[in-house]
Amino acid sequence: MTHKFNLEHAERLEQPDRLALFHPDLFLRQVTLPPAPVLADIGTGTGFYLPILSRWAGPAGMVWALDTQSEAVARARQKVRDLGLTNVEVAASRESELPLPDDSVDFALLAFVFHELERPEELLAELRRVMRADGRLGLVEWTKAERDKGPPPSEIPDPEAMRAMFARQGWREQWADTSGNYCHLFLFNLDPRRDAMLPE
Ligand code: SAM
Repeated sequence: MTHKFNLEHAERLEQPDRLALFHPDLFLRQVTLPPAPVLADIGTGTGFYLPILSRWAGPAGMVWALDTQSEAVARARQKVRDLGLTNVEVAASRESELPLPDDSVDFALLAFVFHELERPEELLAELRRVMRADGRLGLVEWTKAERDKGPPPSEIPDPEAMRAMFARQGWREQWADTSGNYCHLFLFNLDPRRDAMLPE
């Protein structure tokens, strides 16, 4: 049984040294975004990465910041107001249902969220629905190893099982960095053969 991040510990998500563990620009180096990109931060928490995603989107693009916990939505909204991020929309999301139109997202970030998903296959299918044909999904997950930060390894899915699940759900691994002691990074795009592969 997974559990959601407890926002009583919100300050842990706001530590600036988190950017040394993972910086979203690592994905940007692997991706070419269109001129007015639509980005989505799925499980935004306190919105720690929003200033960076807002910069990626620029004045012509936009960022959706989504979370299932109302406390997270409130905190991310406050951050967006405080920082004056005019191209970020914060919204409540449901476990496996994103409040986004079909074929609308160019890049989605799933940072330190996957191990909290109750039905990961469903969210991966939902992400496929909202993603544009050439969109990318950036996944960051804790390593399944003893660390001095983050949840215990027993709460983290096996990386190979996770990769297999992405493949089953029509996601093709484009790039990965599994060299870190704290977290692993994966970049996926939509497998063009997915419609042929997946059952109706
Ligand atoms: N991504 C942020 C970061 O790294 O700073 C927050 C990480 S926090 C550990 C995980 C967040 O994901 C929590 O705020 C939780 O409510 C949210 N979350 C969990 N399952 C979710 C889902 N199915 N859809 C959207 N958000 C979800």
